[in-house]
Amino acid sequence: MIPPLANNFVAGETPDDAISYLESLNRDGIAGILNVLGEHYTDRADAAADTEEYLTLVDRLGSADLDGCISVKPSQIGLDIGDDVFRDNLDRIVTAATEQDVFVWVDMEDHTTTDVTLDAVCEFGRRTDGTVGVCVQANLKRTPDDLERLADVPGKVRLVKGAYNEPASVAHKKKAEVDDVYKRLLEFMFREFDDGIAVGSHDPKMISHARELGEEYGTPYEVQMLMGVREDEQRKLAAAGVETWQYVPYGDKWFQYFYRRVRERKENALFALRAVTGL
Ligand code: FAD
Repeated sequence: MIPPLANNFVAGETPDDAISYLESLNRDGIAGILNVLGEHYTDRADAAADTEEYLTLVDRLGSADLDGCISVKPSQIGLDIGDDVFRDNLDRIVTAATEQDVFVWVDMEDHTTTDVTLDAVCEFGRRTDGTVGVCVQANLKRTPDDLERLADVPGKVRLVKGAYNEPASVAHKKKAEVDDVYKRLLEFMFREFDDGIAVGSHDPKMISHARELGEEYGTPYEVQMLMGVREDEQRKLAAAGVETWQYVPYGDKWFQYFYRRVRERKENALFALRAVTGL
């Protein structure tokens, strides 16, 4: 069982836990993006096991009346083992998801994986007419070109600031610079994309910019935030009629993920301390 505190950020350990959390989320008008925690597998059996788990989720989501989809990390379905392993496993997930009408997000990992991830998503996006979408990172200098390429591919695109510590040769390093680029890329997406834009950010400035652009261009968009982060705001956005999705991680590898969430925000650390000390 996931202990208190960690269960603010992780929905449990099993598909049953994730689905029952999703049911409660849907009651608040928020849709859920289910992610099995796991990354950088070097053993085919681990990549195969997570692929099977995503197939189970696709089945569960396809047969229930739930607002949910999945999000997969390339390195958890075989990218570190071989490009072919990643593509084969993604192909299985996307094929099943297309049959069940379940959307598949592909998370973006560090810059060395961008080409192979985008190549697979572009191919499967065209083949399925948009059952698959991908995340792109504003901090990477290549992203404006990647967005030009993705504008012609069916499927949604999630814009985030970027979570990986990338070298200055390929990435903007200053926060203010990344924020500026994020806003400019949003403008490009609202102008050029027809299939939907996902604003993957907790930043009030980025979200209000997206809402203004949504009014101006009428392009469909959604806001995506993580489980356990600004959940009041998520409910407010949903109540205001903004399509709101929560990224919901679950699985037995919860500790590392929880630790990262606590470390990245002082408030979370204080909140954790308070719960531990009872203050
Ligand atoms: P920041 O720039 O970190 O913060 C800006 C402001 O947002 C803060 O000043 C504060 O007002 C508010 N805020 C931020 N965090 C909190 C908090 N914990 N509590 C309260 N307020 C807060 N990265 C990848 O590299 N690849 C991915 O595939 C990927 N997928 C993602 C999917 C989703 C749904 C989300 C939300 C993020 C994803 N990320 C991914 C992470 C992303 O790149 C950023 O590292 C992360 O979202 C932090 O940036 P930010 O825009 O949320 O805000």
